[in-house]
Amino acid sequence: MEDEKAIETKLLKFGHCPSCGATDTVVGRLARSAKDRGLMAEEWEPCMQVIQGVVAQPHKVVLMGQAMPAYIIRTDVCCKCGAVYAMDIQLTTAQQQVQAGRTPLQLVPNGHHK
Ligand SMILES: [Zn+2]
Repeated sequence: MEDEKAIETKLLKFGHCPSCGATDTVVGRLARSAKDRGLMAEEWEPCMQVIQGVVAQPHKVVLMGQAMPAYIIRTDVCCKCGAVYAMDIQLTTAQQQVQAGRTPLQLVPNGHHK
């Protein structure tokens, strides 16, 4: 489908706090403790919160299976200054789909008309 080609999955990584430059995060520090005790795989990278959504216009007709631009943002809290920031952002696509017995994908408005 042509729409899928138009939106390439891209991962934007931010390795430090944009406010103070520190790399130590709250969940990262707790994960370090869990890893040291063998309770978590070394390669597992947890975060405080995952925010994800689809960029779409409410009430606009979208065909089933059509790829819509979507985002997945992983956040954590800086241990030095307390700032909440995006550790990484994935720009991707989500397909509009309807499954039997399920409500169609809910589109949360994240924009407005000018
Ligand atoms: Zn900071």
